[in-house]
Amino acid sequence: MKKYFTKLPNKFKIPTDAVGQRILREYGALFVARGGAVPPNTVIFKNESEVASYQSSLSESSENLGGFDIELQAAAMKALKAAISEAEQKNLTITPRGADSGKRDYAGTIELWASRVNPGLAHWVGKGKLSEPEAAKILALSPFKQVSEIFKLESQEMFFSKDLSKSIVYSVAPPGTSQHLSMLALDVSEHDNERVRDILAKHGWFQTVVSDLPHFTFLGVSENRLSGLGLKKVSDGERIFWLPNI
Ligand SMILES: [Zn+2]
Repeated sequence: MKKYFTKLPNKFKIPTDAVGQRILREYGALFVARGGAVPPNTVIFKNESEVASYQSSLSESSENLGGFDIELQAAAMKALKAAISEAEQKNLTITPRGADSGKRDYAGTIELWASRVNPGLAHWVGKGKLSEPEAAKILALSPFKQVSEIFKLESQEMFFSKDLSKSIVYSVAPPGTSQHLSMLALDVSEHDNERVRDILAKHGWFQTVVSDLPHFTFLGVSENRLSGLGLKKVSDGERIFWLPNI
């Protein structure tokens, strides 16, 4: 068995379906987070009540950062504040990009999903690659059930990222799968600054979703322990991402 699987939470439900396995490969670094982080036991929350029940079990910390009220798991916030202090000493700032840069609820992830799926479907219908009835059928599905249909279209080169050139998973998370639901993720304004990325990494915050450049994940360990958690380093341009080695 790959090391990664031995590092997952005890009650973690390892997905057996194609969508779940894809989510695990793309977003799965989160599930081996340490340092007081409590990752979810599932790759996909199916509805708001599953999310609410998980979120209410967590120790939460709320701070006003850069003018936005941000909520994170307590351990993640503590590490983030330490990173912010270190940045200040170096005349740098670490701030959230917006009000939804920390914790999100299920409804928020549905809205973001629809903001890519709906225009994407219209685009591919316009290009004649998809029929109107097919698009209407997908739109009528629950967001949860849309995921496998969108992945199917993407396997036929109809992509749904914002610029329609790559998979939707690098642009927005499928409903119920966002790392922001776990309160272990933060979208950072200064993500382009390598020194800022180094400071965040020093405090346990790493990039774990390829192509999602502002997005950081609290893994709660130093970089030299990440491969021991079954993660592998993936370089893309000058960025380093940590993904499950599976
Ligand atoms: Zn994000």
